[in-house]
Amino acid sequence: MTVTTRIAPSPTGDPHVGTAYQALYNSVFAAQHFGRFIVRIEDTDRARYNAASEGRILDMLDWLGIVPNASPRREDGLGPYIQSQRAELHRSYATQLLDAGRAYRAFDTPEELDIRRKAAEARKDSYLGYDRRDRALSREESDARAAAGEAFVIRLAAPLDGQTVVRDRLRGDVTFQNAELDDKVLLKRDGFPTYHLAAMVDDHLMGVTHVIRAEEWLTSTPTHIQILEGLGWAQPEWIHTPWLLSAGGKKYSKRRGDPSVEDFRRMGILPEALLNYLGMMGWSMPNGEEIFSVQDMMQHFTWERVSLGGSTFDVAKLRWLNGKYLREVLSQEQVAARLHAYLAEYSGNLPATLGNLPATLGNDAYFAQVVAMMTPRIEVLGEFLGKTPYFWSEDYPLTDKAVTWVEPPR
Ligand code: GLU
Repeated sequence: MTVTTRIAPSPTGDPHVGTAYQALYNSVFAAQHFGRFIVRIEDTDRARYNAASEGRILDMLDWLGIVPNASPRREDGLGPYIQSQRAELHRSYATQLLDAGRAYRAFDTPEELDIRRKAAEARKDSYLGYDRRDRALSREESDARAAAGEAFVIRLAAPLDGQTVVRDRLRGDVTFQNAELDDKVLLKRDGFPTYHLAAMVDDHLMGVTHVIRAEEWLTSTPTHIQILEGLGWAQPEWIHTPWLLSAGGKKYSKRRGDPSVEDFRRMGILPEALLNYLGMMGWSMPNGEEIFSVQDMMQHFTWERVSLGGSTFDVAKLRWLNGKYLREVLSQEQVAARLHAYLAEYSGNLPATLGNLPATLGNDAYFAQVVAMMTPRIEVLGEFLGKTPYFWSEDYPLTDKAVTWVEPPR
């Protein structure tokens, strides 16, 4: 069986660092096994959908140099890789679960659910999920109400007792008590599947063998296992990667203001430095080497070397690493070319203090000389212009400080 891994980002806004992180680990693992790495855009949550975001996620992968074997830009016959275009398929599997007695229609309105949930909270019930009221409806009554046009969701008829065990490659067996699990919605009132149903149907149909994803999804996995079982499908291997934390110890989150991948790109972080840094988040090279490429990672990666504690993403360390790439990994010519491309990309968008891109700035010998001189003095490409304005202008105003003679130290 061909090893197949995937990332399944939801297009809700700025491309996440977490998506880049998952893309790295998923693509490295697939490549190590001569397998496939696919990108599926999970856009069935129409309330959070952001039209531009999908292209930005795919552009991010291009920038990082991570090339999926299949994606919305590279359909291979097992797609479409845009989940909303597969809603008909998801509906047919929801019906299959319904017919197998593994799911049921629930007709409660959101308002009714809200009232009952609040009452359960007030009673301090330990279980605050759906109270399973419509699980008791006969199939005839359910069919009749649906035929009469009453709105409904389809919910998973999850087992009420016993346990569901998630075999996680990194964590061993993680046991969940079924009594604590909710009858999750599989198909919403708008006819769109939820993430749970859509992801499992698509993973199966796309041949995904290894689900490598963030730890936050571990608690959804029992539901996912129950869906797969209901459809008579084998489980993939589950691998839930450790948390990425931000400096304050909280989960790294762009919603809380941690930089997105586009922010790093704008700052002038090199894609290979970002990948190298993400490679150090929870994993390390056997020889302890800090500078390594994706190819090095492919050669040496093992799950045994992944530590579960959670890794702190330190922007200062990433900048330092980026500086090392500028000074030690790339040649002077490469740095000049990168800088030139970077400045051209952000030329219309430079800080106001710098004005427009200097007309004299070209990819020429003069530029190369300035770059050679400045490379040891910058960590990110974005610092370059601010530190070199006098190279691009004849009438650069000299400040008093700049013309004050300072006695050199002896
Ligand atoms: N759409 C989910 C996300 O945004 C995918 C989670 C998974 O990998 O199963 O991260």
